[in-house]
Formats: sequence, structure tokens, C-alpha cells
Amino acid sequence: SMTQAKAYVEKVYKTVIARNPYESEFHQAVKEILESLTPVFAKEPHYIKHGILERIVEPERVITFRVPWVDDNGNVQVNRGFRVQFNSALGPYKGGLRFHPSVNASIIKFLGFEQIFKNALTGQPIGGGKGGSDFDPKGKSEQEIMRFTQSFMTELYKYIGQDVDVPAGDIGVGAREIGYMYGQYKRIRGSIEAGVLTGKGVGYGGSLGRTEATGYGCIYFVEEMLKSKGLSFKDATVVVSGSGNVSIYAIEKAQQLGARVVACSDSNGYVYDPQGINLATVKRIKEVERKRIHEYVKEHPHATYTEGCEGIWSIPCDIALPCATQNEISEASARQLVANGVKAVGEGANMPSTLEAIDVFLKNGVLFGPAKAANAGGVAVSALEMSQNSMRLSWTFEEVDAKLHQIMKNIYESSVKAAEAYGHPGNLVVGANIAGFKRVADAMIAQGVV
Ligand code: GLU
Repeated sequence: SMTQAKAYVEKVYKTVIARNPYESEFHQAVKEILESLTPVFAKEPHYIKHGILERIVEPERVITFRVPWVDDNGNVQVNRGFRVQFNSALGPYKGGLRFHPSVNASIIKFLGFEQIFKNALTGQPIGGGKGGSDFDPKGKSEQEIMRFTQSFMTELYKYIGQDVDVPAGDIGVGAREIGYMYGQYKRIRGSIEAGVLTGKGVGYGGSLGRTEATGYGCIYFVEEMLKSKGLSFKDATVVVSGSGNVSIYAIEKAQQLGARVVACSDSNGYVYDPQGINLATVKRIKEVERKRIHEYVKEHPHATYTEGCEGIWSIPCDIALPCATQNEISEASARQLVANGVKAVGEGANMPSTLEAIDVFLKNGVLFGPAKAANAGGVAVSALEMSQNSMRLSWTFEEVDAKLHQIMKNIYESSVKAAEAYGHPGNLVVGANIAGFKRVADAMIAQGVV
């Protein structure tokens, strides 16, 4: 019954809080999923009998390690490294590495937990994991980045492998860092194991379309949501937060579909360009010069730069795409977006909306694409990269992009269906959580108590 299901979920949630004190981001991610799953336990109590929830909230393995390195002044620095191998029911652990000063056990566990369900939704044979370090790449020299990254891999290599655990990028980890890590892994192992990391350069085993995948995938997902209401990107006003890999390719695809993207940001502030963001400028500033987004207004004087991040959500728009980081949309920002008439929100970042913000969007009939569905394109193409590595061949950009597009449509369809089947039509938060959960849970039951 519903009462029993609620009591069960509540009991497991309390255990999570007791076992993981002070890990607020992890609690938040668990709370969102567990609440969504209540109707599943009411309808299919066999999941309770198999202890699926108790098992799924406990990582299979958590690895914490020291990362020592020498900075340009000859001083020894020490950072902390993490890898959480959360769930392998569907395949090798899969998920990115984040290098950012905010990284701690809570952040990596929330990301790893989300990753289980996201990866399941892609339909690809990949389990869930995440890792990273509290290393701050900002202001570091090229040599410091290389030394740190090599030291990080010198410890991490013991725990990963193309059939074991396959890391990729996330905030602070792009093609450059993946290249250094791949080189170090190969050197230590003394043999080629191309599928041990994804997001590699296309010259040495990377997949065409991986760079674009998260951003493009997010747009493909939002396109499906818009279609259901007879809307589209054509002539829509769009605000995209962030200016990293996700943001840049979300902007690119939105513009290709005829949208007017008027803003983007970094962790210091945001740029508003009523004539439409010039993406070539953003790409050069961020990808080539590795500078801050305020540089943009030097070249486009009609645009304005404002300090602070949350202000970006006060810009009126039809579609909001949070592509920066967790909890970047507060309840107040969500209310402001609704008051300004936002029609759709697609989460390009992981957990960018607080639980209260999500509530505001859902209660006001905003089309809401939750992260684990809307941003699954990145990891989906990572899985395609693993396939290509195993087959020792490479698909064209068009082939990869077509597969990505189909995967995003499938995720949308399965989320819509699950939401309907469990009594929450139109609620893609519930739908994505249930669709992802069931795939993992059924595999766990089939594999016994492990
Ligand atoms: N970091 C990305 C994510 O959040 C990609 C992970 C991957 O490609 O393994 O899903």
C-alpha cells in the first residue's frame, strides 16, 4: 500500500542521513529519488523484499586518496582524490571526474548516485560512478595542471579499467586533462587500453560528437518537451548559464534551431547580449584563451556584464537552461523565472535546481527536464566511445549524432510513459527516476544479493 511504501522510503532515507552526516548534497539527491519512487513500492512491493533501496543508496566502494604534487615555486601541495564506485548492476562504473575546490565526499556521492539512474536511462550497458579532487585548476600553469593530473592518475589507475570503471570529464576536466590522464595510465600499464577513459581526443580513440554531446543532447531533450505543447526553439528567447563544455554546445544547437540565446555566465558573473550571444567569441575566450566571460563585453560593447551568478535568472526568457553547477537555481530564482513567463527548463548541469525550485516549476506547469534525463547525452556518447574502442573502429559525426538524437528521444519517451504509469502524468522528475530505477533494480534482483 501507499502507507507502507511511504514508511519504507522514510526508513531508508533516515538511514542515509544517519550514515552520511553533513552530506547535504547527497541527502538532496537521495530525497528527490526516494520520494519519486514511493508509487513503485506501493505497486510492486517485491522491490522492498529484495532490499533494493537499502542496497542502492550504499556505494559498492568509496576510494579516497592523497594527491601530492609540486607547484611552480617548488612547494609541495596536497589535494584529496575521490572515486565512488556506486553501482555496477548494468555494467562497468561510468561517470566523470570533477576538479573543483568545492569537491568533497558529499558532492561526489550525489553525482555518483545521480549517475546510476542517468546511465540506466541511456539504455547503454554502464553502471554508475563519479570521482574528482578538490584541486582548483583556476590560475594554475599548464605544467602544474599536468603534474597534478599525472599524480592523480598514478593513484587512480589501480581502481579503473576498460571493463571495471571508466572515468571521463566533468567540471574542470576536459580534453586536455583526459589526454594527460590517458598518457599516464598507458605508461603505468604498459599497454593500450583505449576504453579506460572517455572524452579522449579523436586522434587517439576519442569519439566524434563527444564534445558536443551533453549540450546537443540537452537541446534534443528540450525539443521533445516543447513539441508536446506545440512549441519549438524557433524564435524563442533562451538563457543558458555557464560557459563551459555543456553550455557552449547547448547554445550552438539552440542557435542552429533558430533560438535567440541572450545570456551566459561563469562563476563570477553573467553576460547579457540582447542581440544574441556571439558563440565564436565565447568559444575563443573559454576554449582557447581560458579567460573569464567578462572579456566578452570588450568585443561586444552593446552587451552588459553583471557580477554574481543568480542574477542571470532575472532575465526574461521562454527557455532556461541551467548548465553551470548544482543548486544554481534557488526557489526565489524559480519564482522569478515563472513570473517572467518561462515555458521550459532543461537541466544541462547536474542538480542545478534546488528541491524547492523544482516544486515551483512543476506546480506552475513549466515543462521541466530533470538533469538525469536532459543531460544524459554526454555519458550516452561516452558509452558509444567505449563501443567504438572495443570494436577498434570509429563512426562518423553524423552516425554518432543520429544515435545521440535517438537516445534522447527514447529517454524522453520512457520518462513520459513511467510518469503516466505511476500516476504522475507530465512529471518528468518522477518519470525519469522511476524508469532509471526499474532498469537497475531488475538487474540487481536478477544478479542476487550482491
Ligand atoms: N560528467 C558527465 C556527466 O555528468 C559525463 C560522464 C561520462 O561521460 O562518463 O554525466
